[in-house]
Amino acid sequence: MTALPLPPNATIGIVGGGQLGRMSAMAAARLGYRCHVLTPEPDSPASHVAAGITLGDYEDPAALRDFALHAAVVTFEFENVSAEGLDLLASLRPVRPSPAVLRISQERIVEKTFLNRAGVATAPWAPVESRDELSAAVARLGLPAILKTTRMGYDGRGQARLTRAEDVAPAYERLLPRPLILESMVDFACEISVICARGADGSYAAFDAVENRHRDHILDLTLAPARIPEATAAAAQAVARRVAEALDLVGLLAVEMFVAGDGRVLANEIAPRPHNSGHWTLDACPASQFELHVRAIAGLPLPPALRHSDAAMKNLVGPAELALWPQILATPGLIPHLYGKTEVRAGRKMGHVTRLFPRGALPGPFGLAAALAPLAMQADVDPE
Ligand code: AMP
Repeated sequence: MTALPLPPNATIGIVGGGQLGRMSAMAAARLGYRCHVLTPEPDSPASHVAAGITLGDYEDPAALRDFALHAAVVTFEFENVSAEGLDLLASLRPVRPSPAVLRISQERIVEKTFLNRAGVATAPWAPVESRDELSAAVARLGLPAILKTTRMGYDGRGQARLTRAEDVAPAYERLLPRPLILESMVDFACEISVICARGADGSYAAFDAVENRHRDHILDLTLAPARIPEATAAAAQAVARRVAEALDLVGLLAVEMFVAGDGRVLANEIAPRPHNSGHWTLDACPASQFELHVRAIAGLPLPPALRHSDAAMKNLVGPAELALWPQILATPGLIPHLYGKTEVRAGRKMGHVTRLFPRGALPGPFGLAAALAPLAMQADVDPE
């Protein structure tokens, strides 16, 4: 049994070697913990700052066993581990959040069923196991709609927009593996997320809702706080809390939501781990999402998720934005973060930049574009 709170110098096992693991390990180190990372990549962002790594596949029992034996408690920065892998890890060490939580977040039909049963509204949806079921679902939900794979989708992969009847058959053929899920297209006013943490004792803390702008299905810009009415922000907070409690969460959770044109808040996705839309908390909060993550899984007290500044967080995606790094470093006021990835690819998140503003002074679109120069701000900051 792992004693809680985890004593200083104990080792936290992190499944996944990406930037979320890297920033979690940095927060853990500040609290006096070491991290051991399971990753199939020898040169991963998290491994650069970890005390140790197990190099191996997430599906490989020998690698999972070796990894678990290095850690007092196990957590995730990457959700797509097989159910068998999860069970093996959980038989060896406490896994936080629990495998049950991970299973819900891994599969969109399970996730949406869970959310609706917990009383959380989503876009209307239907499971699609066959071509006939898809026709029935399109007839029921109407078009436009989005057809998605139920597993392994991220950054817009594994989904197709269906606008016209002719789109339906090719999308069905293209998207694999099945089953799929069809969702009504939400004509949203904006996309928001709330990141919250919950301890084993039920203690709870949540950051203010933030506004997320995507480009090519990849998060481009997060504005903290979201520019939404107070009642909408309160509704978003209520959704996050309800989800965290229904999951009996121990750890960190991001809830992505749409604010519909009529002001309703609809949950889209949950991620029981640090989230890209929470990177601004590193610079704008006394305790970041990564610190709250570590505290929650280590059984430390959870501080309130306070924000001392407003913030804009811009992702650095692919070679073109990475090429701006020298100018970014030379611009006072931009807070630079680089993830240590050696391979640069289109669509790959290489780092991010945060700009802080006094509370209540988040600028409008033109001020924001100026504040984030030299990063080209495109259609993402459309005037409102
Ligand atoms: P997801 O993989 O579910 O997070 O979807 C990626 C992005 O696609 C979201 O952030 C939205 O911008 C868009 N999207 C997904 N589902 C819907 C929906 N039902 N209605 C409108 N836009 C959606």
